[in-house]
Amino acid sequence: MTLPVVQVAVPRPLRRVFDYSLPAHLPQPSVGARVRVPLGRAEVVGIVTGFRETSAHRLKPVINVLDDDGFLVPDLITLAQWLSDYYHHPLGEVYATLLPTAARRGAVPEPRWPLSWTAAPGDGARLARAPRQREAFETLQGLGVGVPEQELRALGIDRRTLAALRDKGLVSAAETKPAYRVEPSPISLNEEQQSAVHAIRASIGKRATHLLDGVTSSGKTEVYMRVIAEVLDQGGQVLVLVPEIGLTPQTLARFRRRFGAAAALHSAESDSVRLATWMQCRSGDHRILIGTRSAVFAPFADLQLIIVDEEHDSSFKQQEGLRYSARDVACKRAQILEIPTVLGSATPSLETLANVARGRYRRNVLTSRAGGASMPQYCVIDIRGRRLRDGLSDTLLHAIRRHLDAGSQVLVFINRRGFAPTCLCSACGWQARCADCDARLTLHASPRALHCHHCDRRYRYPDTCPDCGADTLVHLGTGTQRVDAALREHFPGVPLYRIDRDTARGPERFAAQLDAIRQGGAAILVGTQILAKGHHLPAVTLVAVVDADNGFLSSDFRAPERTAQNIVQVAGRAGRAERPGEVWIQSYDPDNPNLKALIERGYAGFAAIQATERRAARLPPYAAMAMLRAESTAAPAAIEMLRQAADVVRNPRGESRKSIQTTSGTSAHRGGGHDREFELMGPVAAPIARVRNRFRYQLMICAGRRRFLHAALSALEAAELIVPNVRWSIDVDPLDTF
Ligand code: ADP
Ligand code: ZN
Ligand code: ZN
Repeated sequence: MTLPVVQVAVPRPLRRVFDYSLPAHLPQPSVGARVRVPLGRAEVVGIVTGFRETSAHRLKPVINVLDDDGFLVPDLITLAQWLSDYYHHPLGEVYATLLPTAARRGAVPEPRWPLSWTAAPGDGARLARAPRQREAFETLQGLGVGVPEQELRALGIDRRTLAALRDKGLVSAAETKPAYRVEPSPISLNEEQQSAVHAIRASIGKRATHLLDGVTSSGKTEVYMRVIAEVLDQGGQVLVLVPEIGLTPQTLARFRRRFGAAAALHSAESDSVRLATWMQCRSGDHRILIGTRSAVFAPFADLQLIIVDEEHDSSFKQQEGLRYSARDVACKRAQILEIPTVLGSATPSLETLANVARGRYRRNVLTSRAGGASMPQYCVIDIRGRRLRDGLSDTLLHAIRRHLDAGSQVLVFINRRGFAPTCLCSACGWQARCADCDARLTLHASPRALHCHHCDRRYRYPDTCPDCGADTLVHLGTGTQRVDAALREHFPGVPLYRIDRDTARGPERFAAQLDAIRQGGAAILVGTQILAKGHHLPAVTLVAVVDADNGFLSSDFRAPERTAQNIVQVAGRAGRAERPGEVWIQSYDPDNPNLKALIERGYAGFAAIQATERRAARLPPYAAMAMLRAESTAAPAAIEMLRQAADVVRNPRGESRKSIQTTSGTSAHRGGGHDREFELMGPVAAPIARVRNRFRYQLMICAGRRRFLHAALSALEAAELIVPNVRWSIDVDPLDTF
């Protein structure tokens, strides 16, 4: 029976779906199919969510049905509804977030397979006089077999170069579907790896979440690959989420070598390539997908395993629009599909550890580094009363010299880019501040300028004080550029590589730097947390942490966790069997319990102390939290918006009141003590109260139980508050509360 009324979720911030009639000449769409429909004066692409038999109103007709099947696979339809409910985000906009941009615009994917390229074995000696071709040839060899053309293009290798190489018989192109196979691994697993593989394998086909808690370089990836091999043997597909692909192309190459192929999905790809990759996963042609955050929404024909590598990484959290956590969404999706998830990390998030403690996740540990390397030694430098030069103590400089003299590499970690975070006049107290933000400007060297790290606006450097005209500007604090300059002066002739967001813009340049570093030989690396991600730097024997205090003393309750993760991750890059690493940490607060726990008892000991603190303060993961943020060009409007929101949450009306009352019968905020339902904090100005001339305010809701938080947010959604000129958002499980 054909049902005449089609229900469609449209990409608008509305809490309802819309009804349309289906003209007789159009085919009956399936649930999950895309349709083009009129909306107001516009035409939009929406998703069919269901059907009804009749409608009391006269309906506008569907303009076109774009897919002959349900474009979205059934588990994504279930997931979309969950996302809408959990994150309190309009369903139509959830769909818009899920779909690749090209699909959202209504593009119909082409079935054609793109060309993929493979280099012949042997060296490129005969290309001595064609350096471009030689470089392309060698790059291609390094990337393995069947590398998609778009990927090469992203690396700056064009069609012409490839065609020239093909004419010389050095590379071949194919339009074939990827051929998956499983290469045997030369590695024999240690006992811990074996038992992890065993446990995860045993849960294939079931719901189970595993934490793979393994120190850096303990062979986690090897464990993933063994389990993936099993899934491929059974004909299934695997999704691997990673924090960043651009910075770790070698991971992708490693998977391609072992399995013959692997698809990649990340933001550097063009829209049409992303859509093509999507479709290849959906058809089952691609069996392994490695991707960043949004790859969690890719469709699969037979997904059997999801792996989230570096599950603690904050890049899994989307910070705008639908503010989802890809890790949490992965776990939910696996639950819907009744398949296992593996969360891997050397520094698991407190959320995941709490789930282990509650018995929801199974913990698998890898305690030693694969290949027998030992863990680094930690040591704190008490810098109270010491004179620092550009942020560096003499003790630290001596240590650096000792390691460089031994022919080793030194990694200096400082999580702040630029030269100095504060520029002020020592005569009159003037400070360089952004005109558009309530924030100080960071001094950058070469070319010397002041940058706002909040809005990216740049300012000319004033050679004299703009207020009093004196020639007395001073630069306080230390960023990567200052450390870079100081170390160059101190250790002339030693190669120095600075790696931060300013220098690592192109993945090629970053890869080239890493290659140079891996050649070995004394060298200094100065960098931010980018260095904490996934690279093995075996020649590094000293890791110097310039400033740990900022993170451990911050008012952001998650800052200590993030800081400890960064330190442990950076430290984990260092050392190998014959050259164990040392980690030296400068601190004005050497007795800080968090820092002490980390050093004396390792990450697990630190995490246990943090967990106790969070539990006592009733903070996540021992409470459910949401942050409402409002911003406006007028501060009072933003405050008014959040006041109204607070009122609704305290005194829900109508429908939502019922739902709150059935949960307990009393209004939550009034009760104190342990049974309180939720607590409101705010409205207060955000820590950076103005960015790009917009005033930012926030209201935090914290509930002892998640259902109370949901009830409060549902009431808020139902109220459909509108204050003119205010943009506002709900962030469930916020990472930045701050
Ligand atoms: P992680 O993912 O934990 O950082 P990897 O899986 O990348 O660790 O392993 C680190 C290195 O150790 C890799 O070069 C890997 O090939 C090697 N390796 C892994 N497991 C073993 C093992 N059981 N014996 C010897 N080498 C191993
Ligand atoms: Zn002055
Ligand atoms: Zn600014």
